[in-house]
Amino acid sequence: MDIQPKASHFIQGTYVEDNNGTPIDVIYPATGEVMGRVYSATPEIIEQAIVSAKSAQVAWAKLSGGERGRILRRAADIIRERNYDLSVLETYDTGKPLSETLCADATSAADALEYFGGLAGSITGEHIPLGDGNWAYTRREALGLCVGIGAWNYPTQIACWKAAPALACGNAMIFKPSETTPLCALKIAEILLEAGLPAGLYNVVQGSGDVGAALVCDPRIDKVSLTGSVPTGRKVYAAAAAGMKQVTMELGGKSPLIIFDDADLENCVSGAILANFYSTGQICSNGTRVFVQKGIKDAFLNRLCERLDSAIIGDPQDEATNFGPMVSERQLALVLGFIKKGKAEGARLVTGGNRIAGGGFYLQPTIFAEVTDDMSIARDEIFGPVMSVLDFEDEADVIARANATEFGLAAGVFTTDFSRAHRVTDRLQAGTCFINSYNDAPVEVPFGGMKMSGIGRENSKEAILHYSHVKSVFVRMGKMESPF
Ligand code: NDP
Repeated sequence: MDIQPKASHFIQGTYVEDNNGTPIDVIYPATGEVMGRVYSATPEIIEQAIVSAKSAQVAWAKLSGGERGRILRRAADIIRERNYDLSVLETYDTGKPLSETLCADATSAADALEYFGGLAGSITGEHIPLGDGNWAYTRREALGLCVGIGAWNYPTQIACWKAAPALACGNAMIFKPSETTPLCALKIAEILLEAGLPAGLYNVVQGSGDVGAALVCDPRIDKVSLTGSVPTGRKVYAAAAAGMKQVTMELGGKSPLIIFDDADLENCVSGAILANFYSTGQICSNGTRVFVQKGIKDAFLNRLCERLDSAIIGDPQDEATNFGPMVSERQLALVLGFIKKGKAEGARLVTGGNRIAGGGFYLQPTIFAEVTDDMSIARDEIFGPVMSVLDFEDEADVIARANATEFGLAAGVFTTDFSRAHRVTDRLQAGTCFINSYNDAPVEVPFGGMKMSGIGRENSKEAILHYSHVKSVFVRMGKMESPF
């Protein structure tokens, strides 16, 4: 497959190049080979994107929601028809195995476009009777021009989780993918255009943090939606605040997964595997602090290691592979640094811990046991295939420990006692909780974090609130009264 895009940026319905920008190599994580090249957006490219989106948005917002929605639903259909090719591209961009990308990336993007396309016609206000025949009504209006900034782990999904609600509400979007994964958003732009989206409403510009920062600071931008780390979130939120812009911040996590000793063993082992090793552990909501109650700990670790032996690590384009490389040499080095710290701080390395020889950025799935709350592998987001297993005995104690973190993205509980499951989730400080499950993210359900893990919600009807504002219109039916 030729993965080199026609040009770096997609503006006003067409590919645009400006090779005065800094070159960005597209590296295939499975081999480390350079597969293509794009150029970072220059100030001229950023200007073109803003001018184009700004002017396209006016007419778009005037269409009925139903008309906008039809285009989004058509794009969803095209994405589903091309799922295979889009999944292959996602695998080249990220290194995630095709067995995953075939069912978790373009499909999730299509779900978002279909869902928000369906919802577009019912984005309405309300009628508020006020007595004396007076009344008011509210309107949900588009914000204007939204900027989406993506992380590298789910480039297709992130592009659409932001674009779908933004466009449904009548906004335009400029999307900046992570410089590590520049390819997939360009395909989404092509497909949206093919589905009938007017030129300029979804522009893609490439570049690193400086391009993102230039967009966020531009006074013509009305909203910023970032998926990224907490340190980046702090900077972007501060820059947006200076212009009083709306934000959605989908940031990092260090989520707890609590396994009580009455849990179904096979189920909780599956949950822990999914919560730590899917996408080679590069998922923000992963349950990386696995608290295991004493009575089940040995059985849990034994079964976990048995199940890990059946991981198929290899060529991510081979559909049999279920564990691929990390996204980049840099990310691999970061994770190896955490593994070194884990060993130095006295955690027991149960399995893994090493880079896998050969080309590409492969790391063994890694499990540490006897991890304590103060260790860096229990405190910091690692964003790689490293599971930390912590012991606990008492319910109240584990809840306090689970909450003792600056993050609040997700949390999971495995138990067969449903009273306990609800009692515990009631007290967990997390935007999304899972009971006997982990990492489900259907578009119908709000997704986002508490505490340092973010602001606002993606997906579901909630996202509409974050891509529109409400205008109140007061209507007096009788005569106006005034003091003099
Ligand atoms: P980063 O925070 O490094 O980058 C995120 C995006 O922000 C990138 O496109 C980056 O550009 C851009 N960026 C960096 N600095 C600035 C700036 N000053 N102004 C504007 N944009 C900027 O995250 P990663 O890409 O490394 O992704 C991993 C992180 O994302 C993890 O912490 C993970 O938890 C989080 N994440 C959160 C999710 C959620 O939904 N809550 C989902 C997925 C990931 P570039 O990298 O190209 O330089």
